[in-house]
Amino acid sequence: MTDTIMQTADRVIAATYKRFPIVLERGEGTAVWDTQGRRYTDFVSGIAVCNLGHAHPRIAEAVARQARQLVHVSNLYYTLPQTELADLLVAQCFADRVFFCNSGAEANEAAIKLARKYFKDKGQPERYRIVSMEQSFHGRTMATLSATGQEKIRAGYDPVLQGFSFVPFNDIEALEAAVDEGTCAVMLEPIQGEGGIRCPAPDYLQQVRQLCNRHGILMILDEIQTGMSRTGALFAHQHEGVTPDIMTLAKALANGLPIGAMLATEKVAAAFGPGAHASTFGGTPLVTAAALETLRTMLDEQIPRRAAETGVYFRQALEGLKKRCSHIVEVRGRGLLLGVQLDGPADDLVAVCMQKGFLVNCVQGDTLRFAPPLIVQKEEIDALIACLEVILKQ
Ligand SMILES: *Cc1c(COP(=O)(O)O)cnc(C)c1O
Repeated sequence: MTDTIMQTADRVIAATYKRFPIVLERGEGTAVWDTQGRRYTDFVSGIAVCNLGHAHPRIAEAVARQARQLVHVSNLYYTLPQTELADLLVAQCFADRVFFCNSGAEANEAAIKLARKYFKDKGQPERYRIVSMEQSFHGRTMATLSATGQEKIRAGYDPVLQGFSFVPFNDIEALEAAVDEGTCAVMLEPIQGEGGIRCPAPDYLQQVRQLCNRHGILMILDEIQTGMSRTGALFAHQHEGVTPDIMTLAKALANGLPIGAMLATEKVAAAFGPGAHASTFGGTPLVTAAALETLRTMLDEQIPRRAAETGVYFRQALEGLKKRCSHIVEVRGRGLLLGVQLDGPADDLVAVCMQKGFLVNCVQGDTLRFAPPLIVQKEEIDALIACLEVILKQ
């Protein structure tokens, strides 16, 4: 059966993913099982999506309850789950208003549109350019790939959208030089995820904030990967003592159901009046009920603190491994978003880890990324480290 599924999938599904040869059919907590009954400890979490783990009882119950009550109605009407979710989100951060959509790329599309519209409404239509970062990742739609500072993502899709330029991450002088009267916003990730788990230098985000203030432009933070407790705070910018004007969320927001959100201050959000932007499925009762339960669970169970503590343990374990293994160049990251850069390609290692019962993932060719569910146990981390040590020493 497993082989048939893989053969059929390879024949009928767009070949945009090179998949590993397992068929996953069940998950619980930090574990997933394939159709052969093999168990894997999941250090990928759907790429920082299932932050509370698989098949979480509270989320499963919230989804089932809402599915029986009301799955979808148009945004022409009010609903309770969407309202409660927005209210709880704004209570937890700088933002005053939330626009709901269905993915990270859509959240960033909304952010880009809002930044442009904000200056159009102010009577400055020439301010539409956005400066983002080299090695950034903001999504795969035309606008978001145009904002993405990786040639491999843009290749094949020329002409990309106008009005985007890139500067090196962590280089405040380059950013200063790139900003002019035509700039409406700076857009960046608090930690570059797809770019190889690149952390900001101390004070970098504060410097970006001050630069944006000086030029009267907007700061857009893409927290799609770093948000929802992943780095040991509900949102990663909360470690840095800065607030953006716009923040985007998706991935872990509903612990696996598709949702995106663009959050903004009242002043900026005012540019999105009736008809300015829309989404059929955005904020639909089913997914917002799941997101509401996800956020409540994170707050009830102090998941950010737990991720911070376990993250310190994991990081120290990786640093220890680095001392024992010459192939490790650098350990990077924060909370439970960690990367280990190797002195050569990391793809083979991912396949070997899988054979040994661990799902891990590789970014930028040479960096292993670890983004386990935030409920991961120290024993599971110890087991992964032992597995990596054996493989790296071979
Ligand atoms: C995953 C990701 C996106 C894109 O999200 P999709 O839901 O795949 O569209 C955008 N930005 C960052 C930082 C991401 O990690």
